[in-house]
Amino acid sequence: MNKQILPFMECINCQNIHSVEEEYYICPRCKGTLEIKYDLETLSGSSFRNEILMRPRGMWKYFEVLPVLDKKNIRTLGEGGTPLFKSQRLAKDLDLANLFLKNDGLNPTGSFKDRQVSVGVSKAIEFDRKVVGVTSTGNVGYASAAYSALADLKCHIVIWSKMNGLGDPSVKMAPALLFGANVKQTPSIDSSFFARDSYLLMRDLCIKKGWVPLISARCINPFAEEGAKTIAYEICEDRNWNVPDWVCVPIGGGGLISELWKGFLEMKTLDFIDDLPKLAGFQSGSFQHVALAFQRQMKTVEPLYDILGKDAPAYSLDGEQALMSIRESKGFAEALSTSEVEETQKLLARKEGILAEPMGAWGVAGLISAMDKGKIQADETVIVCITGKNIDYTSILLENRKIGSIRLEDLKNLDEGGKI
Ligand SMILES: [Zn+2]
Repeated sequence: MNKQILPFMECINCQNIHSVEEEYYICPRCKGTLEIKYDLETLSGSSFRNEILMRPRGMWKYFEVLPVLDKKNIRTLGEGGTPLFKSQRLAKDLDLANLFLKNDGLNPTGSFKDRQVSVGVSKAIEFDRKVVGVTSTGNVGYASAAYSALADLKCHIVIWSKMNGLGDPSVKMAPALLFGANVKQTPSIDSSFFARDSYLLMRDLCIKKGWVPLISARCINPFAEEGAKTIAYEICEDRNWNVPDWVCVPIGGGGLISELWKGFLEMKTLDFIDDLPKLAGFQSGSFQHVALAFQRQMKTVEPLYDILGKDAPAYSLDGEQALMSIRESKGFAEALSTSEVEETQKLLARKEGILAEPMGAWGVAGLISAMDKGKIQADETVIVCITGKNIDYTSILLENRKIGSIRLEDLKNLDEGGKI
């Protein structure tokens, strides 16, 4: 079934408009970031909202506000529709009456990235593409490998040997090998290349070769990025369209918090909700660019080598949009210590039975810190997004022996068969 009301893309820099039937990942005029927009005025009203309520759970029930045009192109492993738990023991410890945990670790490959990759792979099918290219700290690579297997796409993944504060990416790549992906690892942090460069190198390689850059950043694949906002739609639908006071999330590269804000703004225009929440975003380890830019009242997100040292890759690809979203919502961004995150991982496991990966626990660690500082009050309603689960694939780690290496200088020579 084809979409009746077509979404379109608008460049956030020069405001140039394009149809989503055209395969642009960046603005063809100025290389600016493209944002997907929808005719929300036409969709607005109770009949659309009631129709959504009648549909089965899952991310694709929000088809009209996603950029895939034809339902036959959807490739799904059952992503989205994750539960919103009312916390009991953790809430009591924090003296918080209304704390809800949105556990996106229950997605098919264990993180919210499944939402974005499902949209990205479906759009790749819509554009009749056969190959995807991914640079990943772990979750996107794992998800891309699974969805590429489902969609019969060739999947090339480049990971780092080590990412401070994010665990070992190669652990998550063990299943990616079983899915048939071509995985290479690079010691980028030890070379002259930094994380942001490796994402943009992969984007440029994909555009040149007619592959799809399946990277979860609006400035690299604006289609895929849209999947993340369905978390906001699900939170509101599960709460009978009552908006919480706060939504606490890890910032990461900035895409999730930007897309959550986009989702809430869309629902306000659609007349689904009356209010907007405040967003609290958290970062940890050497990934604190957005939090530090917020505290310094900066407009841009810089590597900040002066604070974070040489291990500070300019990783927050959607950092400026994250900053803007947090400020518009009247929320805040904060940096956390690695020890705070580790303690919270244990707390979440012991109080709620949820085993989150380090970044997956940043939202809870941030909430605890914010309550200590009086930024969030005990009588407020708080949603925390747990973005990914802790994965231990010890039994198949031996598969990692098959991971070859690549120098980023050689990435431009990668061919479709995986050879350099
Ligand atoms: Zn432009």
